[in-house]
Amino acid sequence: MKAIALISGGLDSTLATKLIKEQGVEIIALNFKTPFCLCDRRISSGCLNYSRQVANNLGIELKVINISDEFFRVVENPKHGYGSNMNPCIDCRILKFRKAKEFMQEIGASFLVTGEVLGQRPMSQHRQALNIIDQESQLEGLVLRPLSAKLLPETIPEREGWVSRDKLLNFSGRTRRPQIALAKKFNLKDYACPAGGCLLTDPEFAKKLRELIRHQEFNKDNVELLKLGRHFRLAPETKLVVGRNEEENKRLINLVGEGDYLFMPKDIAGPTSLGRGAFNEELIKLASSITCRYCDLNGNSIANIIYKRIPKQEKILQVPATDETKLQALRI
Ligand code: SF4
Repeated sequence: MKAIALISGGLDSTLATKLIKEQGVEIIALNFKTPFCLCDRRISSGCLNYSRQVANNLGIELKVINISDEFFRVVENPKHGYGSNMNPCIDCRILKFRKAKEFMQEIGASFLVTGEVLGQRPMSQHRQALNIIDQESQLEGLVLRPLSAKLLPETIPEREGWVSRDKLLNFSGRTRRPQIALAKKFNLKDYACPAGGCLLTDPEFAKKLRELIRHQEFNKDNVELLKLGRHFRLAPETKLVVGRNEEENKRLINLVGEGDYLFMPKDIAGPTSLGRGAFNEELIKLASSITCRYCDLNGNSIANIIYKRIPKQEKILQVPATDETKLQALRI
């Protein structure tokens, strides 16, 4: 008997997979790549790294499917709405289950295993949401949730005797104590991403993402920029992102594209800023002043800021630092 297990790199999906593998089912792990993983903001494939580690530890094969394009459409306009931030959890699960179903058919797997726990997440893990997800992905009866199975209706794998219901669990709610105890029992130590994670549930990220969608600037390049820096809306079609440390400054330089602007101080310490959108002289001056505000001014109130529109020549502008009130008014 063969099954697919959705692996996020988190503890719940690891435990669920191990429980079913121990029942003698052949498991293929499946991980979805999206741009919104929270596990490690420095590595865009952070969850993927954890998933690889989990699959290795469990001795199972891992398949990774990139669903970024479809996921973007779901985030922009979810049929079932958002959770408390920009997390379209029900639509996200439906998309992932549909993709899993296609993969099941491709490799001849008979059912799907997930680490969902009844009542753990307010939007997508209550009974009604689980039913909607199973129905809309056309996987009714074929989704086994081993951590909560005893609290849920019997599934086909249990009814057909492919797995034993007696060996499944009755976890529910938000406490993670039972999972941590089970991990200890299984001697699982390397669950660096214990609850999984998603940037769409982060209130600060969600605020910036809403603003991006409102300005019709929702695309992959702009979403990557949302993961770092301080964000300012200088004009309806103009944004500035100011690095908060050396690493972010370097990453901003890597994300710069043709037509973008870079701002950085001359001869003093300070941030790199990336400007995107329509700039005129006034906005170049404003972006330079904001960059100046975060420089190490050593008691001065002005700085020389180098700027350039990629790929054009560098220019230098001497500017005062933006005052605090104006700065906060422009901050997203
Ligand atoms: S938290 Fe994020 S990854 Fe998890 S179900 Fe919700 S939208 Fe999907």
